[in-house]
Formats: sequence, structure tokens, C-alpha cells
Amino acid sequence: MALSGLAIYKLLPQTNCKECGFPTCLAFAMKLAARQVELSACPHVSEEAKAQLDSASAPPIRLISLGKDGYKLEVGNETVLFRHEKTFYHQPGLFFRLRDDMSDEEFARRLDQVADYQIERVGMILRPDGVAIENSSGSTEAFAGRVSQAVGKELAIILISPDPEAMEAGLKAAQDKAPLVYAAGAENWEQMAALAHKYGAPLAVRGENGDLEALANLADQISKQGVEDLVLDPGTRGWADSLAALTRLRRAAIKKNFRPLGYPVITFPGEGSGSLEQETMLAAQSIDKYAGLVVLDSFEPAALYSLLTLRQNIYTDPQKPIQVSPGLYEISDPKTDSPLLVTTNFSLTYFSVAGEVEGSGRPAWLLVADSEGMSVLTAWAAGKFDAESITKAVKSTGVPDKISHRRIIIPGFVASISGDLEEELSGWEVLVGPRESIGIPSYLRQLAKG
Ligand code: SF4
Repeated sequence: MALSGLAIYKLLPQTNCKECGFPTCLAFAMKLAARQVELSACPHVSEEAKAQLDSASAPPIRLISLGKDGYKLEVGNETVLFRHEKTFYHQPGLFFRLRDDMSDEEFARRLDQVADYQIERVGMILRPDGVAIENSSGSTEAFAGRVSQAVGKELAIILISPDPEAMEAGLKAAQDKAPLVYAAGAENWEQMAALAHKYGAPLAVRGENGDLEALANLADQISKQGVEDLVLDPGTRGWADSLAALTRLRRAAIKKNFRPLGYPVITFPGEGSGSLEQETMLAAQSIDKYAGLVVLDSFEPAALYSLLTLRQNIYTDPQKPIQVSPGLYEISDPKTDSPLLVTTNFSLTYFSVAGEVEGSGRPAWLLVADSEGMSVLTAWAAGKFDAESITKAVKSTGVPDKISHRRIIIPGFVASISGDLEEELSGWEVLVGPRESIGIPSYLRQLAKG
């Protein structure tokens, strides 16, 4: 049961020592009640109070880990309904289903596809998280064999089988990878809970047709058996019913702090779709609201790219823009007479500009000014990308010693600072480049022609 700010305050030392970063214990208590701080920020809480406060400060959606050695995935631990309220902490894991009755070649090919896929976007490596191996053959040996094949890869694993005997064989084959056991339903929950307990694995609890009351009862029964690392499947597969169920689950956990539904949710977009496009859109809906694990059936790199990009955009902290280090970057081995461009250190801006310069095939210097991670226009509006900050960047990075000319190209969006910049950078010529980075290659071509 969640405690109020005042109830939490009564359990704190009440010394107002400020070590937690708040001026008073009451201010800290109010933040703790709103789950906006961690209890560990106060070093003076007694063990007795800690025991009582731990439940109050526990996140409303439990943190669940899949995998141990090689690759570990964490999902859950979310505290808000909407990202702009604070942030989302753990991006949903993207899995691909492999069936154990696939041919050897097909299984190995699909496994490699998932394990090997990765892309770099704004300086971050994006990749799928794992495979969900389904016991479609009904054979215990075949299932265990396929799981053994996946164990050596850097992937988290979900085991799908209704049969406790096959599941145990899969768990043994998965060794210490802590795979997710999918799933405990009304008919087999006792055996599946016993297996999850025995092997220290998280357990998915499957409901029927979005009946959340029955799902909560089942999850509650299982947690009372000592299996607390749960994942929920509300049993919905279509567009509207999935969206409704996942939203109700999230609201029950976050707004009502209803513990029996306070677990990450798993979805299977392929089961509610008739085509790759529909599956991808349904997966996008799951990523938006509010899945913790998404199991896909179709592996198509272009579709996966779009889902990884969506996930990255939603699960970056809106309060901490992704940044690159300010400095002078060399692109395509520039010479002293190569052009010098300047931009901000917002990661997306940097990679867009750097990518276009590189794509132009023309060597250049790219000066990245410290704009506190803001894009060009935002930084300009905030006074973080102006004549003064660009001049500071030019001087602090030793640009004048590295290039023989005195010309600097500024983004077209901040053409208005060119006069001020020429005053600050005495003796320099300020050129106004294109507004969008996509215009850089043709701009550099024209520049080279003189
Ligand atoms: Fe109170 Fe603890 Fe914060 Fe000190 S660190 S002000 S005792 S809550």
C-alpha cells in the first residue's frame, strides 16, 4: 500500500540535514511519495523505517530481468503514464519468434539474422534483444535442442510451451540465462510457477481476452507461491482491445498502485495481424503504449529499423538530450584549406551534418560548439549558439592553427548572427550555409567551384 508524503515524513529522521538534495525531510518525503526520488538518497534512514518505506518507494511496475551472462535485458520499473511527466526508464525488449519445428537451416539462418542485426543511429547501437523459441513440434528433445542453439548468442530468451515437461527441458538447456517462462495460464500455473521458482526464471502470466480481474487474481496467486518476477499477457491480440488492455494495466499500476497488475506486459503483434505492415504497426502501438516485451514473427530489416528508431525516440530522457562531445571533428581527412563548418552538439544534428559532409565526398572540418545538447534553432533561441559561443569554440579547439584560411560556414537557420560573428571573429569571413543538412553536399560542391 502506498504511503502518503506525511506518513513517509514521520518515518524519516526529521533533521533537515539536506544531504538528500532537498531543503527539508518533508520536501524529500513528498518527492518520495510521488516516486520522483529514490529512498537511497537519504543516508540516515533507520533499518526499521527502511523496511516500511521500501514498499512505499518501490516502483509501481516491477523491474524484471531476462538473461544473465552474455546479454541481460531489464524491463519495467516505470513510474509515469506519460513520458513528459518524467521519463520512461526501460525500453521494451524486441524479440523474434523461432519455432522448434523449423528446418535446421531455417532456424540457424533466422537465429543469426536476429543475433547479427545492429545499426548505429545518433551514436548509439540499436539492436533486437532476443528470440522467443516456441515448442511448436511438441517434442521435448527438439525444444531443448533449439534452446541450446540460442544459448551461445548474445540474446535474451523467451521459452514458449504449454507443456511443463518441455518447459523444464528448455530451462535446463538455457542453463543460467534466466529465460522468460511463457506462460502460466489458469490450467497449468502451479506447474509453471514451480518451474520458474526452481530455475530462478521470470514467469509470464497469461489471461484471456483482456479479463484483467482474472489476470490479477492469477498473478496474485502465483506471487503468493514465491514467484514475484512476473510478466503479464492480457490475452488480447487486436488493435483496439490490446490498446485498451495495455492502457488499463498501466493506469492500474501507476495511478492506483495496484500491485497484482504492477508488472511489465508482453505482446505478440504478429498474432493480431495479416501482413508484415500490420504487424509492424501493431508493434509500434505496443512500443508506444505500454509493452515491456514485444514478440515479432516477421523479420524484415526495414521494419525492424523503424521500430528500433521509434523505441529509441520514446525511450530517451526528454530532460537529457543526447549529446556528442564539443570539439573539432575531421571528416574524410581534411587538409588545411578544407572548408570549416560549425554546428551544435545535439546528437541528431551532429550526425545529420557529419553524415551529409561525409556523403558529399569532400573533406571538411566540423566544429561542434557546446550548446548543451540543443539543436541549432533551439540553441540559438536559448542563447546557447551565438557569435560568442562559436568564437569560444573556435579558440578553444585551436582551429586557427589547423586551417590556413579564415572562413567559417554557419547553418542557414542562424544567418542572422553572421554580422555579430564577423565582429567577434575579427578577420574571418562568415558564410551562410544551407538551412537543412541535406543541402550540404550541393553547397560544398558550389563552394569548391568558387
Ligand atoms: Fe531528511 Fe534524510 Fe534528506 Fe537529511 S538526507 S534532509 S535526514 S530526508
